[in-house]
Amino acid sequence: MPNTTDTDILVSGGGVAGLTAAAAFGAAGFSVTCVDPAPPVTEMSDEGSDLRTTAFLQPSRDFLIRAGIWDRLHPHASALQIMRVVDAGGADSVPRSSHDFDAADISDLPFGWNLPNWLLSREILARLGELATVDFRPGIGTASVLTREREALVTLSDGARVRARLVVAADGRASPVREAVGIPVKTTRYGQKALAFAVGHDAPHDNVSTEIHRSGGPFTLVPLPDHDGRPSSAVVWMERGPEVARLAALPVPAFEAEMTERSAGLFGPLTLLTRRTVWPIISQIAARMEAERVALVAEAAHVVPPIGAQGLNMSLGDVRVLLDLAEADPDGLGSRAMLAAYHGARHGEVRARVAGIDALNRASMVSMQGLRDMRMRALQAFYSVKPVRTTLMRAGLGTGRAG
Ligand SMILES: Cc1cc2nc3c(=O)[nH]c(=O)nc-3n(C[C@H](O)[C@H](O)[C@H](O)COP(=O)(O)OP(=O)(O)OC[C@H]3O[C@@H](n4cnc5c(N)ncnc54)[C@H](O)[C@@H]3O)c2cc1C
Repeated sequence: MPNTTDTDILVSGGGVAGLTAAAAFGAAGFSVTCVDPAPPVTEMSDEGSDLRTTAFLQPSRDFLIRAGIWDRLHPHASALQIMRVVDAGGADSVPRSSHDFDAADISDLPFGWNLPNWLLSREILARLGELATVDFRPGIGTASVLTREREALVTLSDGARVRARLVVAADGRASPVREAVGIPVKTTRYGQKALAFAVGHDAPHDNVSTEIHRSGGPFTLVPLPDHDGRPSSAVVWMERGPEVARLAALPVPAFEAEMTERSAGLFGPLTLLTRRTVWPIISQIAARMEAERVALVAEAAHVVPPIGAQGLNMSLGDVRVLLDLAEADPDGLGSRAMLAAYHGARHGEVRARVAGIDALNRASMVSMQGLRDMRMRALQAFYSVKPVRTTLMRAGLGTGRAG
């Protein structure tokens, strides 16, 4: 066939999940072609840079080591030793309860490590540059997918064709590959959005990630390295859509005053360090995680509200399982048996996490005082029983009961 290249794996999508998948499969010796119509933005100040941060939990760090990426990331990462959950859901916005989940209760390691997404793209791209096995084609997207029992034929937006044994769909929540192979999704809308930005503050964060609940959704501060000698944190502030639109349009001093109040003053006055970016919040799950010669990973398969740092961590879980299966039987790459095993290993786990985060998000959104009081009592009850607390922590990390 003219103008057709052969590859083991075509990764559709060069977001953080797709780039990581390309590095992991490439490092394992598979040939990989990765395409994305939107070239990655790798400087914080550039238009369109992703100002979200990702808290990589322990299992994700192990996977990043395996993909040869972690050494590049480690110098930029902020450790998360304690997850603090604060309830400020009383009649005023003063904190009325605070619970610390300390990683030391279950592990010698921190819960996770926080890194800005734009920096992740920069460092993973640098890793791809070291791998002769990976052909990354920025500015080019997947245009169509035709699958057969033995291969997938992918036509790209520049007219080139790629014949792959496996297509990894990492092309986001509206995944064109998922659409092309006809896998339906179930979507839940909350009428909520998230503001993501970075702040400076006077009080040190002491490697504590702080989630403050009132109504509309959590206000979460996650540690970043100091900025110009001053403590700094990444913030995700979830509220109902119209409220987010109002907050995003406020002049900076008024916005700073509102976010300082919403943070219950726990870190002193907050100063805005970046622009404010807005993200729609949904839950979504694909009915299956595979089709003939196709595996769905990351937001192509599941989307959750940003609570408990689950989204990208689940995504790396998907890629880890796929890679384990591929390495166990390289000749069976993309086969029906491999993809059925992938679906079997991941879909139940993903479904449970999507349902769990949905419940937490609904609890965080409640505005009636009686419900907010119930939420606080439920957290206190969970927290006060140590085995329940440590089980919750392990479940959040995805390390099960061992550890
Ligand atoms: C505010 C916020 C905070 C978050 N914080 C955390 C956190 O702390 N920890 C965590 O684990 N998760 C977190 N998440 C979730 C995490 O950010 C997402 O899971 C992750 O960024 C999604 O990555 P992705 O690669 O699946 O999708 P995307 O980043 O959407 O990437 C999909 C890519 O596919 C490309 N694409 C589109 N069409 C095509 C095509 N035709 N062909 C090829 N490519 C195509 C797009 O250009 C895009 O680059 C957060 C999410 C939000 C909203």
